[in-house]
Amino acid sequence: MTVTAIGTRYVYDFDDEAPGGREQLGGKGIGLAEMTHMGLPVPGGFTVTTEACRAQLESGSFPDGLSEELDDAVHRLELKTGKRFGSSDNPLLVSVRSGAAISMPGMMDSILDLGLSDAAAEGLVRKTGNAHFVYDSYRRLIQMYGEVVDGVDGRLFEEALSAAKQVRGVTVDTDLSADELRLLVETYKQIYTESLGRGFPQDARTQLRAAVEAVFHSWQNPRARVYRQLNDIPDTIGTAVSIVQMVFGNAGERSATGVAFSRDPGTGEKVPHGEFLFDAQGEDVVAGIRAPQPLEELEASLPEAYAEFQKAMDTLEQHYRDVQDVEFTIEHGKLYILQTRSAKRTAAAALRIALEMVEEGLISREEAVLRIEPGMLDHVLHPMIDPNAAVTVAATGIPASPGAAVGAVVFDADVAAERGKNESVILVRFDTTPDDIHGLAAAEGILTAHGGMASHAAVVARGMGKPCVAGCGALRIDESAGVCTIGGVQVREGEQLTVDGSNGRVIVGAAPLVTPTTNPDLDTILAWADRFRTLGVRANADTPVDAERARGFGAEGIGLCRTEHMFFGEERLPVVQEMILAEDETARRAALDRLLPFQQADFEAIFEAMPGLPVTIRLLDPPLHEFLPAENEATTERMRERINSLREVNPMLGTRGCRLGLQWPEIYEMQVRAIGRATKAVADRTGETPKVEIMHPLVAFAEELHRLRVLTERVMEEEAPGLEYLCGTMIELPRAALRAGEIAAYADFFSFGTNDLTQTALGLSRDDAEGKFLTGYLEQGVLEHNPFETLDQEGVGELVEIGVTRGRAVKPGLEVGICGEHGGDPQSIAFCNRVGLDYVSCSPFRVPVARLAAAQAALVEKGTSYEQAGG
Ligand code: ADP
Ligand code: MG
Ligand code: MG
Repeated sequence: MTVTAIGTRYVYDFDDEAPGGREQLGGKGIGLAEMTHMGLPVPGGFTVTTEACRAQLESGSFPDGLSEELDDAVHRLELKTGKRFGSSDNPLLVSVRSGAAISMPGMMDSILDLGLSDAAAEGLVRKTGNAHFVYDSYRRLIQMYGEVVDGVDGRLFEEALSAAKQVRGVTVDTDLSADELRLLVETYKQIYTESLGRGFPQDARTQLRAAVEAVFHSWQNPRARVYRQLNDIPDTIGTAVSIVQMVFGNAGERSATGVAFSRDPGTGEKVPHGEFLFDAQGEDVVAGIRAPQPLEELEASLPEAYAEFQKAMDTLEQHYRDVQDVEFTIEHGKLYILQTRSAKRTAAAALRIALEMVEEGLISREEAVLRIEPGMLDHVLHPMIDPNAAVTVAATGIPASPGAAVGAVVFDADVAAERGKNESVILVRFDTTPDDIHGLAAAEGILTAHGGMASHAAVVARGMGKPCVAGCGALRIDESAGVCTIGGVQVREGEQLTVDGSNGRVIVGAAPLVTPTTNPDLDTILAWADRFRTLGVRANADTPVDAERARGFGAEGIGLCRTEHMFFGEERLPVVQEMILAEDETARRAALDRLLPFQQADFEAIFEAMPGLPVTIRLLDPPLHEFLPAENEATTERMRERINSLREVNPMLGTRGCRLGLQWPEIYEMQVRAIGRATKAVADRTGETPKVEIMHPLVAFAEELHRLRVLTERVMEEEAPGLEYLCGTMIELPRAALRAGEIAAYADFFSFGTNDLTQTALGLSRDDAEGKFLTGYLEQGVLEHNPFETLDQEGVGELVEIGVTRGRAVKPGLEVGICGEHGGDPQSIAFCNRVGLDYVSCSPFRVPVARLAAAQAALVEKGTSYEQAGG
């Protein structure tokens, strides 16, 4: 399909009204147009639309009519500036700049000083009397044009420049004299000619057309493609091209160029923050040509330009109502703004800025809440390497779980579990498996050589809220020798190591950490969020410690308390094994009777950590063989037989969950009894009855829940007569979602167990998928997201919706929540909000994220939005 050019307008002057906004003009183009309309000092110019780029990319040729439109726009710019494009007396020079609708900083190309030629250069020298500036500009043009338009190797130019500096014995380019720059231009032209077999184009209009075309093509350069892939930016949208009258920061002493933020992007403090260079142009500041000066020195040297600059910052903030990141240039003391966009900032700065802008009346509280990216909160709440400390990074890996940790290196999970009791350890492994869980739990931080964000180590670490750097390619482990090398540095077992899971850094030795434990700004934002959200937020917590932590983060109850963890304790596991090995029911009950006090004590402690708040307790879920040792570790023949008889080919789909509870009812009976007694004990002791919700896992058939409800009611009546509680089920099998109506008849609540629901709906086991074909799927783009991290809304989500609708059709007051890991994922939380869940439940560390994401979901549904400025 080709786009017909007839009637399509491709060019808009900065002071025109363009109908298509950012999509049409790109972020840079729309920013230049808006700043022009605000009356800010922006050089004249115009933007070629993204449509033109798409037309070029589709047809492979310069869009029909664009040449004429360019000629007209250049003519208008000539009238505005009083200069002539291509003239040798008073030449108009322009920059040709890329800019897509979604910011892709530095990924595409721009060309400055376009319109210069031998004749124009001489004319400009006559007019300005500043040959230094003119030949400095000309050499820049030849290099940029050569590289961007014609693919000349940039190193050739860099080498020529270095050679010129060496001959002269100077270190910085500004120290070259006008004559030397003129000679350098000759050398550059030679390089150009030798590389291409033709001379540097002397016609300004030829230059312009070729430059526009080259900028279109820079959309397809490899780094731009990779950047789009990494950031989910569609390949089809194309870039706009802005043509801007040149203003010269390289025109001498009272000229400069710089970049600045309207507030400090590190701390959020309301003070402009930036850097600049006198007598410089374009990217010199960021490229580190010379050491740039802080903005304050501009105030001292050019107070009038600085005052104007401050005014411009104010205008921009008033208009965009956000911190801006701007490019500016000063030519002979006169300020120009060349670009503006919403500034990237640290989490701490984002919070402070949002709050202060509410105080300043710039934004509403709703907008403030919408502006904080939930994922960023991780960085506020975890320890970090002291930003003032100088550290040497030995290697970097994938930042898999945020925060920083310091500890002694260990290579084995058992060793980690042992040493971790008395000291901080960092577990360093090729990768981890579920067998390492105790080591992961005991470690302060985790470093793996293999795997990514979805690797076992990463997922577990995030769940536990501990720092993890995964996939560190520069890590080699020689476990038997008790040594590893990290980026070539040798580290022995027991030596100190620092991992920074917020950015993937690995540092040999103990880096100083600081812990931003309380952040009052965060507390304020979350308090506002709590008022906007309608979804409840609970935590998944199995222990009193977790429960207390969850309360501290603002959880409004426990959505999932897994009781199997209580079976693993040192004094308990032998009793559990005795119960499993029992010959008959009597023996089994005897063992269960001994387990009951442990469970009861655990429940009491958890109830007391959640006074007045709901606690959802899930009865035993995993298959029994998980509690037995491996067959070759069996100590008796009886044990070996039992291990054999319990073995299942596919335990995930075997005798687990309520199937277990129906086959050996005395197990669930003991658990319900422990719950009943704990409820009663806490009610008697504290005067507040715990709000208990007893949850039966893996129900597929209504009849399963029917029978278990009868059991539950009978035992609760015996142990805690008259006390109120809820009895419900997890919905984690597709059949349960489909038959939710029948199941709801026996349920006071549903909790969507979306981990298992994802596995069963997709027919894949997480352990077998992640790190294997699922990783491939994500890399090849078969899937966009890992369905265990972000709910598969179309598939699994439809089952959830069906479950909610059918359940509530039968029982309108049915309480419905979600307790899979998705309960802490912002996108999935928005889905839960939309389908009318009552609450989400997630790991304690994710609770603040969930509170914020739930508020954002509610606000977005009400139609409040927040859009970023500029590009
Ligand atoms: P990027 O998208 O990589 O930032 P830009 O198009 O913004 O590229 O331009 C590169 C550099 O050149 C920036 O520092 C910018 O401020 C500067 N620049 C662009 N156009 C002009 C101009 N007309 N006059 C002076 N400097 C300019
Ligand atoms: Mg720029
Ligand atoms: Mg489950």
